[in-house]
Amino acid sequence: MARKKFIAGNWKMTTNSQSARTLAQGVVKGLGDESSVEVALCPPFPWLGIVAEEIKNSPLSLGAQNVYPVNEGAYTGEVSPTMLADAGVKYVIVGHSERRHGMGESDFILNRKVKAALAAGLNVIFCIGETLAERESNQTNSILEYQTTAGLVGVDHGSLSRLVIAYEPVWAIGTGRNATPEQAQEAHAFIRSVYGNLFNAEAAENLQIQYGGSVKPDNAAVILGQPDVDGALVGGASLKADSFLAIIRAGLGK
Ligand code: PEP
Repeated sequence: MARKKFIAGNWKMTTNSQSARTLAQGVVKGLGDESSVEVALCPPFPWLGIVAEEIKNSPLSLGAQNVYPVNEGAYTGEVSPTMLADAGVKYVIVGHSERRHGMGESDFILNRKVKAALAAGLNVIFCIGETLAERESNQTNSILEYQTTAGLVGVDHGSLSRLVIAYEPVWAIGTGRNATPEQAQEAHAFIRSVYGNLFNAEAAENLQIQYGGSVKPDNAAVILGQPDVDGALVGGASLKADSFLAIIRAGLGK
């Protein structure tokens, strides 16, 4: 069965309450009742309620950008998986490179986050990707294999339908420099084979693998047209309804 395309907008630490509302309204209006592609908006935590309100009668889903791997307790400043679920969140991004490299999150903590989010019933967008130095020293595959294996250790088979992987080469995020369609396809096919070895062939066949890294309306169609590219995690271009909708249309093959 063909995998459904999944386009998610990562708003990072941008927008204010009003611009978040306006952006969500723009995407809702432009998407209409189109449900043959999955679309999620991942605003900053304080605007989750606002965006939840705006998307409630639409096919859009709500996503969060981070989570702490414990449900409740003395963890000042953190947000738990059950709180996100309670707020209407369906997806949570775990392991974005801005957290791995910017905030020093280890494979160990990311694995705890993946498992805690899945246990709370959330869907996880688990990000992996190599740095430029790693690509240039031919370590791309070993990094992708390591991050996939370490991040997903102990994940039970029953949760796999709620797991999405985002391949995000670090050198392509927010840089305007995207992977070529061939580079993306090669990495995605490799990740799928690693995943198949970790779990099983059926799970690998069903796994949605998003590409992330400077996806724009003008490169989306060719990247999303690759056989193992099942969607996109979009940063900068998700901040304008028009450009995000153009990427969604590219996902639909329109
Ligand atoms: C991202 O935030 O995951 C991302 C891929 O950003 P950008 O599209 O701006 O490169």
